Amino acid sequence: MLMTSIFPARYVQGAGALALLPEEGARLGTRALAVVSGSARPLVEKAVAGQKLLDLTLEPFKGECCDEEINRLVAAARKISADVIIGVGGGKPLDTVKAVAHALKLPVVVAPSIASTDAPCSALSVIYTREGAFERYLLLPRNPDVVLVDSEVVANAPVRFLVSGMGDALSTWFEAEDCRVSQAKNMTGRTGTMTAYGLARLCFDTLMADGMAAKKACEGKTVTSELERVIEANTLLSGLGFESGGLSGAHAIHNGFTALAETHAFWHGEKVALGTLSLLMLTKRPAEMISKVYDFCQTVGLPVCLADIGLAAPSDAQLMAVATQACAPGETIHNIKGDVTPQAVLAAIKAADAEGRRRKA
Ligand SMILES: [Zn+2]
Repeated sequence: MLMTSIFPARYVQGAGALALLPEEGARLGTRALAVVSGSARPLVEKAVAGQKLLDLTLEPFKGECCDEEINRLVAAARKISADVIIGVGGGKPLDTVKAVAHALKLPVVVAPSIASTDAPCSALSVIYTREGAFERYLLLPRNPDVVLVDSEVVANAPVRFLVSGMGDALSTWFEAEDCRVSQAKNMTGRTGTMTAYGLARLCFDTLMADGMAAKKACEGKTVTSELERVIEANTLLSGLGFESGGLSGAHAIHNGFTALAETHAFWHGEKVALGTLSLLMLTKRPAEMISKVYDFCQTVGLPVCLADIGLAAPSDAQLMAVATQACAPGETIHNIKGDVTPQAVLAAIKAADAEGRRRKA
């Protein structure tokens, strides 16, 4: 059996880490194009003011990770003869710079300004149309050269980002564990190594131990050791866990939920949390574990029933559409050992919803 795990080459995290951008960039090149989201620009300007390590050109991100924007930034990088690409902001600017660096075969430094998903560390960009509709996945030949997270910036972002990131990270261990048991393939098309499965477990344990305290710290805009650990869990552990451990039902059910327009106001990690609760029902996890995960979701404010993601009174036909999409050929739900049918997924979603409503009553 051939196993493969993949990693970013370097991970840097801490309060004030943004000031290290020139130093980290200078390890990889001399002239950088730094693509920066609007809200991050003042932070970057302040952090790199007066530095002489790196010739740095700031370029605003125009809002969508689409081919037009990628091509525009490739041209901008060529114009200044950039030899390293930097991205600062949320998921879309980071996915964009990963694609730009790949097109130019240059090293890339990504600096997420929020801890809302596990995307920064991955060798994957999600490409949309100019209008914002999903277009395709771009699989990259390697992970980012540097992932740099300034915890102070994350602490000052709205707390919903952090909580949503915990929802995404909550799925990691359960999905990786399903893949480990069935020896299913991870994102590289091979089975994962014990390192990936072990890190996925650390991700879960960290959320359970520090999730609530981290949320409180973020509400108070304070960097604490609990917040640092949860930022690492949401960003690095969850990223390694999903990419090298593998996905199963939580993300597939999330993908099913996206078919219903009512859920569109809710974020990736929020829908993944309900996908995780459904997965626990589908795979009949022990009652104590199920109870522990519901307790966690209720404590940090993640969804526990369908109404929490905009589905207050879904019809059976709507939920069957979710279950059918979750079980589409090639979906990661088939990484679960044994046959998974839309009927079983429908029953699991209903069971997860009923338990959530019972607890909230
Ligand atoms: Zn995810």
